[in-house]
Amino acid sequence: APIVRLSGISKSFSNGTTALAGLDLAIGEGEFVSLLGPSGCGKSTVLRIVAGLTNPTSGRVDWLGAGGSVPAAGTDRPEIGFVFQEPTLMPWATAFQNVHLPLKLKGISAKTARDEIMHALDGVGLAGFANAYPRELSGGMKMRVSIARALVTRPRILLMDEPFAALDEITRFKLNDDIMRLYEAGGWTVIFVTHSVYESVFLSSRIVVMAARPGRVVDDIAVEAPHPRG
Ligand code: ADP
Ligand code: ADP
Repeated sequence: APIVRLSGISKSFSNGTTALAGLDLAIGEGEFVSLLGPSGCGKSTVLRIVAGLTNPTSGRVDWLGAGGSVPAAGTDRPEIGFVFQEPTLMPWATAFQNVHLPLKLKGISAKTARDEIMHALDGVGLAGFANAYPRELSGGMKMRVSIARALVTRPRILLMDEPFAALDEITRFKLNDDIMRLYEAGGWTVIFVTHSVYESVFLSSRIVVMAARPGRVVDDIAVEAPHPRG
C-alpha cells in the first residue's frame, strides 16, 4: 500500500524556473525507491516537497494510512529522516551530540536518549567514536554520523539526497552495503536520489527515472532485487 502519493505536483521558482510540471508518484510502504536522473531534473525538489521543506506551486501530497486510505485533512506527516549530500554536522559538537540533535529539538535530554543515540551510532559502526568531533572524522564517517542522526528518531520514511556523491568510490561501496543492511533490519521506506545508475540498481527495488525541462517522470522500473525485501 502507498505511504505517500504526489499528485499533479508542479513547482516554479520566483526567478521563472519550472523545476517540476505535473509530477505523479506514489511510494509504497517498505519500498526502496531511487529517483534517478540528470542534474537539474528536479530530484531534490521532489524530496524537499515530500519532506515539507518547501511547498509545491500546485498539486497535492497525501500521506496515506494503513491500507492506502487517505487520512483526515491535517494529519501530520510521519516521522521523516533526511540525509543531505553534505553531512551538515555541527563542527563544535561531538558525534554523540550531533546525533542527539533531532531528539533534543523534541525536548528529549541526552541522558534520556543515551541508549537510542548509542544504538544509532552502533548501527553505522561508530559506537567507538561517540566523543569524536567532525574534524577528527573522515568524509565517510561524517556521512555515517549524518545517517545515524537521520535514523535516531526511528523514521517511517528516510529521504536521502545524493548522500554519497562527494565520497570516493570505495567509501561509497561500503556505505551502500551499510545502507542495505540497515534497510533490511529497519523496516522503513526509502527515497534515494542519485544520478548513479550503479547505485540505483544496487540499492533499490524500484527506479523512477526523471528527465528535465520541466521535471517529470519518464520511466518507472521494478528491479530484480539482489536483497530479500525487494
Ligand atoms: P536535481 O536535484 O535533479 O539536480 P533540483 O531539484 O535541485 O534538481 O533543481 C531542479 C531545477 O530547479 C534546476 O533547474 C534548478 O536550477 C532549479 N532550482 C532549484 N532550486 C531553485 C531555487 N531555489 N530557485 C530557482 N531555481 C531553483
Ligand atoms: P546536553 O548536551 O544536553 O547538555 P550532555 O552532553 O551534557 O547533554 O550529556 C548528558 C548525558 O548524556 C551524560 O551524562 C551522558 O550520560 C550522556 N552522554 C553525553 N555524551 C556522551 C557520549 N559521548 N557517550 C556516551 N554518553 C554520553
